[in-house]
Amino acid sequence: MKVAVIGAGIVGATAAYYLSKEDNLEITVFDYGRGQATKAAAGIISPWFSKRRNKAWYRMARLGADFYQTLVADLQADGFATDFYKQTGVYLLKNDETKLTELQELAKDRRKEAPLIGHLELLNHSKVAVDFPDLEGFNKLLFASGGARVEGAHLTKTLLAASACQLVSKKVTVSLSEQGYLISDQIFDQVILAAGAWLPDLLAPLGYKVDIRPQKGQLRDYFFEGLVTEDLPVVMPEGELDIIPFKSGQISIGASHENDQGYDLTVDSSILAKLETEALKYFPKLREASSFSERVGTRAYTSDFAPFYGQLPENPGLFVASGLGSSGLTTGPLIAKELVNLLTGQTGLLDKDDYRADKYITKTP
Ligand SMILES: Cc1cc2nc3c(=O)[nH]c(=O)nc-3n(C[C@H](O)[C@H](O)[C@H](O)COP(=O)(O)OP(=O)(O)OC[C@H]3O[C@@H](n4cnc5c(N)ncnc54)[C@H](O)[C@@H]3O)c2cc1C
Repeated sequence: MKVAVIGAGIVGATAAYYLSKEDNLEITVFDYGRGQATKAAAGIISPWFSKRRNKAWYRMARLGADFYQTLVADLQADGFATDFYKQTGVYLLKNDETKLTELQELAKDRRKEAPLIGHLELLNHSKVAVDFPDLEGFNKLLFASGGARVEGAHLTKTLLAASACQLVSKKVTVSLSEQGYLISDQIFDQVILAAGAWLPDLLAPLGYKVDIRPQKGQLRDYFFEGLVTEDLPVVMPEGELDIIPFKSGQISIGASHENDQGYDLTVDSSILAKLETEALKYFPKLREASSFSERVGTRAYTSDFAPFYGQLPENPGLFVASGLGSSGLTTGPLIAKELVNLLTGQTGLLDKDDYRADKYITKTP
């Protein structure tokens, strides 16, 4: 059977990896790459402290965080390095620090079904200074050892290298033919549309309207000489700002959530300057960075901010996923594995009816 995957962000690349573990599938991945959210993302995997009330989303995000353990073990068993992912822990800060105890209680409760949260501890400033020197702007914070950081671009590169698939770097369209689905002069039996914020463009010619809109996300990577950043926890103050240390003296500051910029990919220094001013309150050493560079990507979100995946009822050979929003690095690998399970007739971890694609994709008359 010939299977096409359109999009090689986190969903498409993970799907390609797990499809290529199946027998008798010939897999081709098409990816345009421009604006890809995954490669712009310097990501945090720490869904347990979210206040979102959507239980189906939380279940997906919790199991998505867990699924990294499987993904990492599978790639390691295949002989690939997995340093794109590291559980360095997270520091959670609150403007009103009396609320940290409440947060710790919530986390303890959630840890019963999510042991990955790990060790939880309220730390005062002097204790934090031992592990993360120069962190300021707080008296105490909550530490959770299970939180992780992920380098999106590095992850997809590893997944594609580990996949037995043909990768075609171009923008494509899908049309129906009597033999199957026509993409770039080839016929496919099944297609996974993992096109992120561009799913509406792919499905419009097939007569579908998709409840997906683009959200611009920008972040800035700062590079330091002689600063050991490898094991520093991710810092999560309240609001948009996160401070995400990576290896080799890199610290990323992000990310913006801009709903009114369409698919624009230009760097807006005024937005990044605001994030930097905020970040300096917590990490004044940022001024000592020897260089910096920016990343801009387009996230996809739905009208109720919930992600979806599944098979299109009128076109059962088409499998879709989108709307992953700000938590797609967390949920993406699991969503992709669920799509592969659907395509190959295997049982998944999630109840697919909780994330139905046809709630967001309708046939135009
Ligand atoms: C700055 C930023 C920070 C983020 N931080 C976090 C975080 O801390 N934690 C977290 O969990 N998530 C985070 N996210 C969200 C996460 O990155 C996204 O939700 C996720 O990567 C989306 O993955 P995707 O595979 O659905 O789409 P994408 O990664 O956007 O991939 C879609 C791909 O499809 C390709 N494509 C589209 N149409 C076509 C076509 N016609 N032909 C060929 N190719 C096509 C595109 O070019 C693109 O490469 C962040 C996102 C951004 C932008």
